[in-house]
Order: sequence, then C-alpha cells, then structure tokens
Amino acid sequence: MKLNLPNLDQFEVVVFGRQIGECILIHSKSKWIIIDSALERLTKRPFPLAYFESIGASPSDIQLIIATHWHDDHIKGISDLLGNAENAQFLTTRCIFDKPFYRLALHAKKYSGPSGSGLDEFREVAKILEQRNQPFLQGAEGIVKRFPSLDLELTCLSPSNFACQRASAEIANLIPIEGCRFNRVKSVSPNDMSVATWISWNGRNICLGADLENISKAGEGWNAVCSFLKSQAPNEKAEILKVPHHGSITGWNDTFWKDHFSSDFAVVTAYTRQSEPLPKREDVERMASYSKRLIATTDPKPSKLRGFENSTLRQLKDITNWVHDLGQKEGLVRFRISSNETEWQVDKWQNCVEVSKDFGNIKDWY
Ligand SMILES: [Zn+2]
Repeated sequence: MKLNLPNLDQFEVVVFGRQIGECILIHSKSKWIIIDSALERLTKRPFPLAYFESIGASPSDIQLIIATHWHDDHIKGISDLLGNAENAQFLTTRCIFDKPFYRLALHAKKYSGPSGSGLDEFREVAKILEQRNQPFLQGAEGIVKRFPSLDLELTCLSPSNFACQRASAEIANLIPIEGCRFNRVKSVSPNDMSVATWISWNGRNICLGADLENISKAGEGWNAVCSFLKSQAPNEKAEILKVPHHGSITGWNDTFWKDHFSSDFAVVTAYTRQSEPLPKREDVERMASYSKRLIATTDPKPSKLRGFENSTLRQLKDITNWVHDLGQKEGLVRFRISSNETEWQVDKWQNCVEVSKDFGNIKDWY
C-alpha cells in the first residue's frame, strides 16, 4: 500500500484531515478537482501540492479549486495552491459576491481578527484571478458544473438563495464606519454559507458536506439540501459522505443520512480548536449507527502542549478553559474504483483510523 498515481480509468477520492484543517482531492482521467485546502504539518505546504509531488502528478492538471467557505481550517494555503495550478478555475460561495464582502475583506488586514487570515487568502486569490483575467465562479444551490473530460458532474447543494440573502444583509452590518471601532466578524457564520457538493461519476455519487450546519430556519442548511435533493435526485444516494462540520450535532440531519446516504462510507475530520474537540463520543456513536464504515482522518484527542514547565501549564490552565497543542495529528483516506469494479478500494495513512463496531479502538480518545 503506497501513495501512487491513480490509473487513467480510476476514480479517486482522497480526504486529508488534520486536527485543524481538511482538504479533498478528486481524480478522474488524469484531471483533478480540489475542495478546500489545509497545510501539511511539517512542510507547511498546501496538502494537494505535497500529495501531487509524492505521486508524480502535476498541479497543472487541476481543473477546479473550491473554497467551501473562509474558515481557517478549510482555506489555509488555497492561494498558494491556485498560484501553482495555472489551469484551474476557482469556485466559492455565492455569499461573497456581494460588494459588502469585498469591503470587509479590504478592511480585514487593518482590523485583523480571528477571521482575518481567511479573508487574506481570498484577497490573494482575487489578485491571482485578476492577473489571469479569470472570474470567480459562484457556488450556490443548484449550480451544476459538468466536466466531460473527467466524465463527472458536480452539483452545488448549498448555500440556498435564502442563506445568501441573509448573509449579505448580515455582512453589510459588519462594515466599519468611519470613526467607529470595528471588532471582528462575529455574528455571521460562514458555515451557513458553505458550499456542500454532490459529485456523480459513472452512476456513483459522493457528497462532500463542507461545514454546512442544520439550520431550523426554513430554506437553509441541511433542510434546504434535503428538499433540493428530493426534487432533483430522489432515488440517488451518496456512497461516500464527507461528514459535515466535523461530525457535530449542529451539522446533523436525520433525513439526509437516511434518505440521501447509502451508509457505505462516512468520513469525518476532527476539529480541536475548542475546549471539547469534535467529533465528540456521542457524535461518533450517532454517525456509526448510520454507516457501515466510519473513518476518521485523525482522532480528536489533542496532543499535550510540549516544551512548557508543569508550573507554567498550571498557570495557563488558571487563566483559560483549556490548554492543548492544536492540529498536531494528520491522516488521509483514499478511495479508488474503476468503471468495471463494484467494490471501492479503501486505504488509510498516518493517523487515519476506522471506528470499530464495538468502539473498542476509540476508548482512549475521550
Ligand atoms: Zn471546519
């Protein structure tokens, strides 16, 4: 089992996940689509570039790069990736195409906050596209991209029109006004605007859930996705599901898992930048009960912070809720299948782990 170039007729799906950061690579007929970007821990390079180097693929074969939304754990290194992928188009959530977003992005450097670096990446992407005289492609519910040279079709499942309207109104409220103090992006959740995708190849479907959450508001989140799929592809199910929002309960939608997922492979990436990392134990159990195989690119247990005296760590714990080393583990799972095969070939690397049916192998996660 080693990392190697897929054959021309192999459809390949690679999910890379760190404890903070995820990235998905899709291959068909020597061409690639990349969804989101994360940096490799040691080299600090965008994962797709490192992966391509190790298998001998060329970034010039990337046809499309998607930024599902602008959170750090989905967008790190995406401008570097685009800069190296001279033939790629770039698609992101329609919610950023409002003028207010651009004004916000312009201010982001000056008023840098936790959302700052995501906006910085977008600004770099915008520069590259401008130099190439190439437009941003918009992703929103119902937008379909056909790739005849890859034999595949990609449908954006979100954001819905309703979500886009709400987002632009909320973003407009965040624009700094001369003389007023501007803090940071707080009230808008980029997760609600993220682009979940449905990819069809040779009669098979996969669903990449981004960080889309399950919003109770009518016409938004996973409820809107279910209505859309019910009307457009009522009998189709995804065989591989990149679980939305790191397996959290806020990303969970019962109808979606029952009606639109074949239950074959659920893949979850962890998120450790909070006191209780995702997925939680109850999330793992819930996902496992709806899937034949549940694979986690890494476990969610954060590493201990190294290089500090115990007394310093104690002091840190006195002033903050939690102290741990972020994003230390990383791993990937690769799915392959060719048109004359019926079974997926599944391979895992590094910290990637499959949850066993008795949960015996996740005992030390919590
Ligand atoms: Zn995320």
